[in-house]
This record gives sequence, C-alpha cells and structure tokens, in this order.
Amino acid sequence: MKKIAIFGSTGSIGDSTLNVIRENPNLFQVVTLVAGKNIAKLEEQIEEFNPKNVYIMQKENAEKLKEKYPNLHIFYGEEGMEEISQLTDFDISVSALVGIAGLRPTYNMIKNGKTVALANKEVLVAGGKLIMDTAKKYGATLLTVDSEHSAIMQCLQGEKQNKIDKILLTASGGPFFDQEITDDITVEQALNHPTWKMGPKVTIDSSTMMNKGFEVIEAKWLFDVDLSQIQVVVHRKSIVHSMVQFQDGTIMANLGPKSMQIPIAYALNYPNRLVNGIEKIDLFEIATLVFEKPNLEKFQCLKLAFEAIEKGHSYQVVLNAANEVLVDAFLNKKIPYTQIPKGIKKMLEDHQPMDLNTVDEILALDEEIKEKTRKMIVQN
Ligand code: NDP
Repeated sequence: MKKIAIFGSTGSIGDSTLNVIRENPNLFQVVTLVAGKNIAKLEEQIEEFNPKNVYIMQKENAEKLKEKYPNLHIFYGEEGMEEISQLTDFDISVSALVGIAGLRPTYNMIKNGKTVALANKEVLVAGGKLIMDTAKKYGATLLTVDSEHSAIMQCLQGEKQNKIDKILLTASGGPFFDQEITDDITVEQALNHPTWKMGPKVTIDSSTMMNKGFEVIEAKWLFDVDLSQIQVVVHRKSIVHSMVQFQDGTIMANLGPKSMQIPIAYALNYPNRLVNGIEKIDLFEIATLVFEKPNLEKFQCLKLAFEAIEKGHSYQVVLNAANEVLVDAFLNKKIPYTQIPKGIKKMLEDHQPMDLNTVDEILALDEEIKEKTRKMIVQN
C-alpha cells in the first residue's frame, strides 16, 4: 500500500488524484491533505480518506478543524506549510498547489529525497535548475503528471540509449485559437476551455498559451533538452498528448482519453498502468489528426515565454510572477484580457538579469515583481 500526500487536494488535480485513490483502495492510502481556503471540501475529504496530517491556510480554519478532529495533526500558515512539507511519512507526494506557492514545499520534499509527482508547473518555471540539481544531489525521484510531459515520459520508456531529436509538445490552442483576441473577451469566455476542465489559473494560462510557454520550460528541465529541440504543435482535439522524434526520424506518440486521472495514476503506480473506468478513444470516430503551427504574433504570452527562456533564469521568474498577478487581476475583472501580455512585456523589459541560486532568492524576486505589477495595475 503506497502512502500518498496531496498538496492541493481541494483543486482540480486534487480531485482527480482522489478519484484514482478512491478507485484503488487496496493500492493507495492518503496520509496528508493540503488545502488553501476550501474548508468545506477539505472536511469532506477528511471524512472520506481519514488522513494523518492536514494543512489549511488560515488559523481560524485550522482551529475549527482541531476542534472537530482532535486526533488529526493540523498545520496552518507559512510555518505550518514549512513543517508539513518536511514530513517524510509518505511514499509519493502529488505537488498540485497553484503558482509559486508550490516552490518551497516541493523543494523541501525533493531535498528530503522523496518521490514527487509534479503537477505544479510554476515550480520548474521559477526554480527548474535548483529543483533538478537538488533532486540529483539528494536522490529524489521527480515524476510528472502534466499530461504532455507524462506523454513524453511514456514515449521515452526504454529509449535511454537513443538521443532525442525533438520533443513535439502538443497544445489545444485554447478557446481563442480561431478567434480574434480583443479587450471584449470576458472571464467566462476565457474560462471555457475547449478540451480540458482545470482550475481557473491554468485555464486562463491555456487561453493565452502562456501555459504552453511554461510547459516548454518544464520540458527543457525534465528531459534535459535545449530550447531548439522543443517544438510546440497545435493539435485542437487533444488526442495526441505529445510526441518524441528520435534521430532516425521515428516519432513516438502518446494518444489517449482526455482525463488527468490517467497521467496521475501512471505516476502514482509508476511504471505500471492501472485499470480505470474511463471511456477509451475510438479512432474511427476521431478519423483525422490535425497539427498546426502556433501564431506567436497572436499569442504574445507564448512569444514572451520563448524570449524569457532565451534571456535566462531570472527572466523566467519575472515572467511567472507578473503572469500570476495579471491573471488574478483579469479573473477579478480588474484588467482587460489584452493587459495580461502587455503587463508581462513591461516587467520583462524593465528587468536586469541576476543570479538566483536559492529558494529565498527566487521568492524575493517573485515578490518584488508581484509588487511592481500590482502597482502598475493600480496606476493604469
Ligand atoms: P486549482 O486552482 O484547481 O487547485 C489549486 C489547489 O491548491 C487547491 O487545492 C487550493 O486550495 C490549493 N492552494 C492554492 N494556493 C495555496 C496555498 N498558498 N496554500 C495551500 N494551498 C493552496 O488548480 P489545478 O488543480 O488546476 O492546478 C494545480 C497545478 O497543477 C497548477 O500549477 C497547474 O498549472 C497544474 N496543472 C493542472 C492541470 C489540470 O488539469 N488542472 C493539468 C496540468 C497541470 P483551495 O482551493 O482550498 O483554496
């Protein structure tokens, strides 16, 4: 029985992870649940999965939980996050907090030599080198549950001797691929993703294609390839989850249903697949697979992500921090949609490159850029 810790249990990835665990009660046991604000959902999860350790962000909520569940080990606040992420009483942790909030806890688990199934892509965007070097140094195993990267990981099984020519990272193109991008775009339209149901931040990132830019950075670190070896391929149906082209021209592809439960189950039970109740794809019904080039002039966020990768690490931290604030402002209807790339561009232009070697240094720059971005929003 594998003991599982879920960082972000009340989110979309958290839901899918708990579905996998619910369907496989003989294989997995929940030991840790980490949530932000959603106490009602966390309580339901506590009742159903009976964990040992629980985190909730606010003290008042933690106190309510302590009263109701006196035998639970309950953590809260910044200190509590530090403590719960230093526990080692699990076999595999699913890192599914959203944004930079996941960096320090993921780093702690990696530093403790644990196995981490990473969903939180911002961890590698802001701290890729540090995370990969730390994993190597402390013998941690980093698996991925991002569907594209899981697909690539699966295409690379048994291919250790063979050099990657190119990673073909597929993208759905989001809701605006065939539509003009204007200031009239509403939050509701941007949240209406054509193929995946996900949390709000990653859904907006998918609509701007910043998500794909983040995934390029993620792929670069996870599979140790150069930027020139990663090609973004728009594939509207999201049937092919990504591909690897080898030096002899062979392309290995991973196809399957659109369900995050599949890559999550693959990571939790790595490298063995699990039976599930998800409807299989019917190739006759799909009939055609179409691949298109992304338009970088239209999807400015993807273009900015490529520029940030070329300019160096600290630019990627700036990209991520500015994006986090601007997406949040758009979701709260404080800025129009087109302000997202414009604001990021401004923050990148104003930045002077710097070395960032520790989590503290990364988080200090993240906070500085967030503050600047918030000020820019207020002034406009
Ligand atoms: P959600 O917004 O649905 O969930 C985020 C989770 O993190 C919630 O449980 C939330 O708690 C918790 N959380 C957020 N901030 C904090 C904090 N400071 N302290 C403690 N808990 C916190 O996001 P998703 O599940 O969609 O995505 C999670 C990550 O996985 C993102 O990085 C995303 O890019 C990545 N990802 C997501 C995919 C998907 O299909 N959803 C696919 C591939 C990658 P609460 O709700 O209680 O406040």
